[in-house]
Amino acid sequence: MKFISTRGLAEPVGFVDACLSGLAPDGGLYVPESWPAIEPARIDEPYISVASRVISAFAGDELPRDTVEAICERAYAGFAHKSVAPLVQWGSNRFIMELHHGPTLAFKDVAMQLIGQLFDEVLSVRGTRMSVTCATSGDTGGAAAAAFAGASQVDLFILHPFERVSPVQRLFMTTTGADNVHNIAIDEDFDVCQAIVKSLFADRDFVAETNLSGVNSINWARIAAQSVYYATAQAALGANRPLRFIVPSGNMGDALAGYVAARCGLLAGFEAVCAVNENDTLRVLFDEGRMVRRSALSTPSPAMDISVPSNFERLAFEVSGRDPQMLRGLYERFAQTGDVELPDQISGPLRCSGLSGASVSNDATLSEMNRVHDETGWLICPHTAVGTHVARAGGDRDVTDVVLATAHAAKFPETVEKAVGRDCPLPDRVAGLADKTEVFERLPSEVSDVRHYILENRRH
Ligand SMILES: *Cc1c(COP(=O)(O)O)cnc(C)c1O
Repeated sequence: MKFISTRGLAEPVGFVDACLSGLAPDGGLYVPESWPAIEPARIDEPYISVASRVISAFAGDELPRDTVEAICERAYAGFAHKSVAPLVQWGSNRFIMELHHGPTLAFKDVAMQLIGQLFDEVLSVRGTRMSVTCATSGDTGGAAAAAFAGASQVDLFILHPFERVSPVQRLFMTTTGADNVHNIAIDEDFDVCQAIVKSLFADRDFVAETNLSGVNSINWARIAAQSVYYATAQAALGANRPLRFIVPSGNMGDALAGYVAARCGLLAGFEAVCAVNENDTLRVLFDEGRMVRRSALSTPSPAMDISVPSNFERLAFEVSGRDPQMLRGLYERFAQTGDVELPDQISGPLRCSGLSGASVSNDATLSEMNRVHDETGWLICPHTAVGTHVARAGGDRDVTDVVLATAHAAKFPETVEKAVGRDCPLPDRVAGLADKTEVFERLPSEVSDVRHYILENRRH
């Protein structure tokens, strides 16, 4: 299986190279040359079996089937729930899919644990080391730290905005104790962290010298890994039952994974709503056919405080009939003006893609957390509440709603306290987190300082 770039100016690459490089050299995102047909999950099929089949379908003959199975086994061994993505009933015809049973209590673990195992495996076969870097507004960094801690072939460098992530989120990044995990606190906001990472990748010599890679939400391995739980939800609720997934969204990687699952034949049909907070550029894309850049507002659901949903590019590529030239023009104009109207070639078919967007205010998010607690006794995280609010607003329908619970409430105790007036202690399995020793480096927001730090701290 070959992977091509949405911008059309990069050489097609295999699965492993698409995953290791993240972004294509022409600035585009990798997508499979054609969609593989994958057998839907069976109701009695273990999660790891479905995951192995899905990853193998994209890896083709690049990775032997038993290698993929071993990678998936190791990736999900650390999950506290053996179903990995269990469903619980929330109301009549409404379910919640719990994606927070991984080591850092957020759905990012589902993909990142797989990436950690995949990278270490293929790099040891190739006999090379890699430096992996990412900027995080909270959950990605912790998930990456847990996934790569102790990896023999990878040195991880995480950039987070100093004092702008929640204490629990920070602890997950800074307490692994692993000497190949490096945490850098930048004296600026998340956008600056992301800009620094971008500058690092723009420096070709530095990329070559450090064998630099990224694991942000545009990495194809993440999309592939996330499409698995859409398939297991369909199997659990009935192979032919129409489902509507409500996906708390930021960069849109999670929702796109649902679209991918449908394209590969893993779902009975496809309907998904990207539920966003007051940062509603995704909703504007779907409702108004406009792509706008705004500075991100700070909300109770910080993992979704994103202004430009990067995975939209993959969806635009697909629905436009895979027209890289048109896409290059669109993204060039967007880079210049930060506000472009989608051409009819995208906006028309987008309406028939099964995806849509809905936005929820900060106040509504907090009262939703309280309401779900009143109804069920559950504490849900603010991101999940954005999703349940959107489901509720849809009213009673024939189709079954599945809301993706993207994080555990205990990751956001301050917000739970404010919304519900209750403590939300960490689950037992991570209860000792706050007593662990934190290690991080505080650096100014200079690319040169970060570059120097990586050169000094990577293994040779
Ligand atoms: C990352 C994240 C999201 C958004 O996921 P995307 O794939 O970026 O759309 C939602 N909720 C939580 C808790 C997250 O960590």
